[in-house]
Amino acid sequence: MYQSFLIKYGEIAIKGKNRHLFEDALCKHIAHALKPVDGEFEIWKEQGRIYVDAKGDYDYEHAIAAMTKVFGVVGVCPLVQVEDEGYEKLVEEVISHLKEVYGEKEMTFKVVSRRARKNYPMNSNEINMDMGEKILDAFPNMKVDVHHPDIYVNIEIRQKINIYTENIPGPGGMPVGSNGKAMLLLSGGIDSPVAGYMIAKRGVSLEATYFHAPPYTSERAKQKVIDLAAIVARYSGPIKLNVVNFTDIQLYIYEKCPHDELTIIMRRYMMKIAEHFAKENNCLGLITGESIGQVASQTMQSLAATNDVCTLPVYRPLIGFDKQEIVDVSEKIDTYETSILPYEDCCTIFVAKHPVTKPNLNIIKRSETNLAEKIDEMVETAINTTETIMVEAK
Ligand code: ATP
Ligand code: MG
Repeated sequence: MYQSFLIKYGEIAIKGKNRHLFEDALCKHIAHALKPVDGEFEIWKEQGRIYVDAKGDYDYEHAIAAMTKVFGVVGVCPLVQVEDEGYEKLVEEVISHLKEVYGEKEMTFKVVSRRARKNYPMNSNEINMDMGEKILDAFPNMKVDVHHPDIYVNIEIRQKINIYTENIPGPGGMPVGSNGKAMLLLSGGIDSPVAGYMIAKRGVSLEATYFHAPPYTSERAKQKVIDLAAIVARYSGPIKLNVVNFTDIQLYIYEKCPHDELTIIMRRYMMKIAEHFAKENNCLGLITGESIGQVASQTMQSLAATNDVCTLPVYRPLIGFDKQEIVDVSEKIDTYETSILPYEDCCTIFVAKHPVTKPNLNIIKRSETNLAEKIDEMVETAINTTETIMVEAK
């Protein structure tokens, strides 16, 4: 029924010079999202509007699903676009469109017309009034409701005329890449994929680092992280994933440091190594899935201790979220089912029965002096043996 779509995007945040950069990035990402969809699509811009035209047959459901995942898209409006062949003809088009979509359904409506082309013989108020009457005459099942209508009958008079009644919500946010790049510490859990999603939504492209501890963590645990990266990549675009072999460092910390401080010290080395890759690859910050008080390693004191090793800013978008709120997002973005697969995590293996919940930074630093002999060399080895995987959306 539809061959065109109007893409709505958040216009307020992008005044001035940045606007066309934002629009161009958005067009690029929509094109990319439509690549796997059956059909051929053309994307074009006109005065603050982005349109997608389907050339011939295409998969409607899949196209909508793809476009409504693109960050920056606020809504997708399936559109009937007609030539201006006089007002009487426009009335016919509107009525035949409403018949086709809504038939005899009981509903309320409001006509909203916009006249971008001022040489049109009627102004928008006149169109609203008259079109409203014509619709009432044609449909005994429809009533006007100017406050809370079931549908808005949008009519935009431009070079051509756009008619649309539906606005399918997109995720909002900003096109990925319009705000730089950050390094996500990606584990196999529920939280970190959600954290990556949320930062990517603000226009930030992602790179990721995973700490793997074979043979304590299996190949399946690693594959799970790759799978999670592939789901996040549906939204963020391809993710370069660094898989760090963390086993020797973990064992060494286990051997040399008090066991109740293990998680914190391990975290500090994770942050250091992730930051190394972040700086090497022009990332402007780190991202974690931490939330205040969720576990012992996420109390304010623990977060302060982990944060202390970083010079880049650490973004923690879930900081004020309850677990259930995080789960809700992970279900929405489709990472949940993968996240709950029961493969071991490198942090759970060496975890102490009673980890410190209020680590004192000076004491932690003193414990770390026990590592002086070999740790620098081990970190260097971990960095040099890191495996890099390009993860595409799946
Ligand atoms: P998640 O569900 O993201 O695993 P979690 O509740 O299990 O989080 P922790 O295990 O305390 O929390 O980890 C806190 C954060 O540290 C994670 O959100 C993630 O960003 C990072 N992290 C933890 N383990 C790893 C790992 N093995 N590799 C990479 N990052 C990790
Ligand atoms: Mg975890």
